[in-house]
Amino acid sequence: MSKVRFEALETLFHRKPIEIPITNEKISDYYGSKVFGEQQMRQHLPGDAFKSVQKSIQDGNRVERTVADQVAAAMKEWAITQGVTHYTHWFQPLTGSTAEKHDAFFEPTEGGGAIEKFRGSMLVQQEPDASSFPNGGIRNTFEARGYTAWDPSSPAFVIGTTLCIPTIFISYTGEALDNKMPLLKALHAIDKVATDVCQYFDKNINKVSATLGWEQEYFLIDTALFNARPDLMMTGRALFGQAPAKGQQLDDHYFGTIPERVGGFMREFEREALELGIPIKTRHNEVAPNQFECAPIFEEANLAVDHNLLLMDLMEKIAVKHDFKVLLHEKPFAGLNGSGKHNNWSLATNTGVNLLQPGKNPKENIRFLTFFVNTIKAIYDHADILRASIASASNDHRLGANEAPPAIMSVFIGEKLTEMLDNLEKNIKSGSMTAEEKTALKLDIGKIPTLLMDNTDRNRTSPFAFTGNKFEFRAVGSTANCATPMITLNTIMTKQLKAFKVAVDARIKKGEKKDIAILKELQKIIKESKSIRFEGNGYGEEWVKEAKKRGLSNLKDTPRALAVYKDKKTVDLFESEGIFTPVELEARHEIELEKYVMKIQIEARMIEDLAKNHILPSAILYQNRLIKNVQGLKEIFGKEFKQHANAQIELITDISDRIGELKKNLDNMLAERKKVNQIDSEEKKAIAYCDKVKPYFDKIAYLVNKLELSIDDELWPLPKLRELLFTK
Ligand code: ADP
Ligand code: MG
Repeated sequence: MSKVRFEALETLFHRKPIEIPITNEKISDYYGSKVFGEQQMRQHLPGDAFKSVQKSIQDGNRVERTVADQVAAAMKEWAITQGVTHYTHWFQPLTGSTAEKHDAFFEPTEGGGAIEKFRGSMLVQQEPDASSFPNGGIRNTFEARGYTAWDPSSPAFVIGTTLCIPTIFISYTGEALDNKMPLLKALHAIDKVATDVCQYFDKNINKVSATLGWEQEYFLIDTALFNARPDLMMTGRALFGQAPAKGQQLDDHYFGTIPERVGGFMREFEREALELGIPIKTRHNEVAPNQFECAPIFEEANLAVDHNLLLMDLMEKIAVKHDFKVLLHEKPFAGLNGSGKHNNWSLATNTGVNLLQPGKNPKENIRFLTFFVNTIKAIYDHADILRASIASASNDHRLGANEAPPAIMSVFIGEKLTEMLDNLEKNIKSGSMTAEEKTALKLDIGKIPTLLMDNTDRNRTSPFAFTGNKFEFRAVGSTANCATPMITLNTIMTKQLKAFKVAVDARIKKGEKKDIAILKELQKIIKESKSIRFEGNGYGEEWVKEAKKRGLSNLKDTPRALAVYKDKKTVDLFESEGIFTPVELEARHEIELEKYVMKIQIEARMIEDLAKNHILPSAILYQNRLIKNVQGLKEIFGKEFKQHANAQIELITDISDRIGELKKNLDNMLAERKKVNQIDSEEKKAIAYCDKVKPYFDKIAYLVNKLELSIDDELWPLPKLRELLFTK
């Protein structure tokens, strides 16, 4: 056994869970204690300053400079009581993770002293060097400088001794270089139009917030074993590995008892998450061995996105203490379930109404149907853009594979609502309706039960499913920043609601009664968007054929999914809703393609390294042992040695064949890579990596896995999947 593998397994043998003392503290004692939230603001700010900030947050407006100075002073005062010495603008560059640059509060004074200083200007703006972050060409055309600007709608928080201030990140010429700025724009856009539409139903509604409840799936691997797998370290997934004899086929892991060491890790990161105001609520074992999930209570989408990013960081940090590595990759192990991050999405009003919650009477249900049916139409019209919003090299391994939603976008709504929509489609007459017909229609609409959250009516195979009072976008990958799908979903919904409002207003103007105008428009939309609805098995081959017949896209890889960003329809959509300028959109397309190319390139290099430097030498070593054995048999048995050495000779031949195949595939992949690297266009290069290089991954893994099965376990250099996945 290789030294690293041996030592890793040995370390594992002596592992003990860290004792986490059980105290009688209640969660409410420490929830949000590290957040400068509304309560802290109220405590530390003069009354009118507090009111002014709250109003800016409500309306999405800039905080006045004098108020910003007051907030900065209050923040500093509060932070110092928490032992804070530094502050940072915390932002989301387009790398997919978060970034921060710490500055100390202290400033030297004349005479060799120092004071703690934090002015409004430092709170409001910082200037990190933008040149080291992805910009997709924006920097070439404009200036290299960028700056971060305070987002007062997401509260500042303390990590260690640093005060973190959530910010947007933009270029000096105003282009977004992050995910937060377009998200805030999309949330503002949907607020406005959804509020307008709500006026049909309730004049008291003056704000609509998109809500997001994410569910984060992940794997935990022991650090020692992780460190002995260079592929996990470099790419986040096992590039090789024979599937263990026992995987998830017994379904004995899902909701099973949480192992003690894992439990300790969970308790500790949840505690820190709760202190940071992340309302983490649920934890359980997932389907695959060593796979888990956690989920908070849903929040306003901007805050929920920040909290998810924060939580991913936190998990990785706390895991180290427990000698675990968190794998957030969408498909760390071929043949086992991958990890997703379901995005539960809805719209909530200032009056406390969930717009995707069926109501108690016909009036409430017309409101429900309005938002429900318009969502379906938005997905129907923009399925490809939604697909692009979740495209990544790592999510490609998951979509359409082993128990993951397919790359085909469709909407599941369940039997009851399907029936309801079918009725609406049939029962609304095109001409004018009699009073009886109208009453019958309203009665029918009144029959939607308040609670549709019946678990039997759930279809786990749908990428976009209605689950009783919200839609669940399941195709989002576990590593993703939820901002990307949330930007898209809220933008397409904005566009749809605007069109709906215009159409209904036109009908009303022509003399139709409001309710009838709404219902007739809904009927039209139901008809138009019918083909995006699918209630069957999304994992089946049949669906692929059926979807093709319906004209739905099945964009299986990232470069092709991203191509929609070039379409005029996409450019117009994001521009007209004020979310991305054409330059910003093009930059994002470019950045995503670059990321794809780099990810595949790194995997290819890692495969070459592992196969040539770890696998082939081990195979040759074992073969030499066999050859020596055959030679020995020949010495003893002379001419008759063959009848005693048949099996060994067969093994030698098998190994020779595999070595030859493996070497040939590695050489061919390298040659292909060299060619592909010459391509200038980022898009063509990404497609070439996808079509010409990536197909070698599976061929090579297959050969390596066969060798793993035939070579002496003692000589195998890498921890095996059964060792990685069944540690407690
Ligand atoms: P599961 O999908 O695992 O069965 P649930 O349906 O109970 O779990 O809820 C999943 C997630 O949906 C939770 O994170 C919850 O906070 C979120 N959720 C519930 N209601 C809403 C809503 N109105 N808007 C957004 N998310 C919501
Ligand atoms: Mg779910």
